[in-house]
Amino acid sequence: MFDINVRADALESRGPSKTVASRDPWKQFDKFSASCLIELEAAKEAATIIAGIYCIFAPTELIRAAGAIPVGLCGKQEAPIAAAEQILPSALCPLIKSSYGYAVTNTCPFFDASDVVIGETTCDGKKKMFELMADIKPLHLMHLPYATTSRAALEFWYAEILRLKRFLERLTHQTIQMDELARQINLQNRIRLSFQRLLQVNHPGRNPINGMRMLSVLESKGFVVDPEKYLEDLDALINALDRSPHPDASNGSAKPRILLTGTPLGRGSEKVLQLIEDAGGVVVCMENCTGIKSIFNLVDETDPDPIRALAKRYLKTPCACMTPNTERLEMLSRLVREYQIDGIVDLTWQCCHAYHIESTSVEKLAEQQIGIPFLHIATDYSPSDTGQLGVRIEAFLELLKN
Ligand code: SF4
Ligand code: SF4
Repeated sequence: MFDINVRADALESRGPSKTVASRDPWKQFDKFSASCLIELEAAKEAATIIAGIYCIFAPTELIRAAGAIPVGLCGKQEAPIAAAEQILPSALCPLIKSSYGYAVTNTCPFFDASDVVIGETTCDGKKKMFELMADIKPLHLMHLPYATTSRAALEFWYAEILRLKRFLERLTHQTIQMDELARQINLQNRIRLSFQRLLQVNHPGRNPINGMRMLSVLESKGFVVDPEKYLEDLDALINALDRSPHPDASNGSAKPRILLTGTPLGRGSEKVLQLIEDAGGVVVCMENCTGIKSIFNLVDETDPDPIRALAKRYLKTPCACMTPNTERLEMLSRLVREYQIDGIVDLTWQCCHAYHIESTSVEKLAEQQIGIPFLHIATDYSPSDTGQLGVRIEAFLELLKN
């Protein structure tokens, strides 16, 4: 079922247990998705349910407490977009087209491995795409409210999480036990805390690790089969960094420090991140869903109702699909101070209206309230505008050096 070359790479990266001590702690993460495929195959043989997810609103603790494994399916490559455009409008966000293209061509092994898809009604494009995807794979759609602060919104989302619980219980033929849910919440909180600790390596006064290097680690959190083992790998990396800095970090301190915000990205759609760092900047902080947005907030473990605690935590996700989305602006202000940012780059995938419109508020925040330079980039997954974007980014970085 899975690509044999991927499996060979993965075996090399995971290696037998006796080589654990000598493993390069970064290498684990560079090949994480390939390793994940092998582990998923074993899980499927053991009849474990695989649930594909597309968004950080998906409460992974609940999925795990049902005995299923969540795996990230967000499309980050351009290749499947042409097939998607046979059905979807071309004037649609590339992330949605890529995700659907993988589904309709069945060319993503993670989609193939998934027994079911769990989606959410975030933006209009995604929720309508899910209607079509439901013809390809069994799909459970969670309905999201569009506000984060009202009591009614919380009650609505709480009810949706309970509806997901019932769906998962039917799917896996087991009742979700509250003590198992509490254990999964604790485990995911510890992973989030380890990520927070890892990202402190880019705090001022330390030689920063560039965003391209950090990307594989950040992305790996969507491909976790065994969270306990993952936490060990993550902590091994943090401990290695505490002992000695990463070699690429040696002269990073003189570079303009960039905060990258906006829509999610990953390997395959990292064009803007790569251009910033090729032009001499260093992305010390990513606020998007690939980065801090997915790990900054913990689930309250003291809440006597763990389902309500999940509802509260996930509803606070500062996504542009929410209105108002003041939490994002507050977080950006905090991150600019915490990481001593020189300039903000706001990435919007073309046709993503929510992030494109919200960019005006981010620009106002950066230039008028915080007083640092701001650059907005709207692009897609194609390399056709790379030259033009490179020129704009170089000019922006020059501005920061002066
Ligand atoms: S940007 Fe919003 S809709 Fe997209 S993955 Fe993040 S939380 Fe989900
Ligand atoms: S980037 Fe924007 S349009 Fe694309 S899926 Fe996310 S919220 Fe929707």
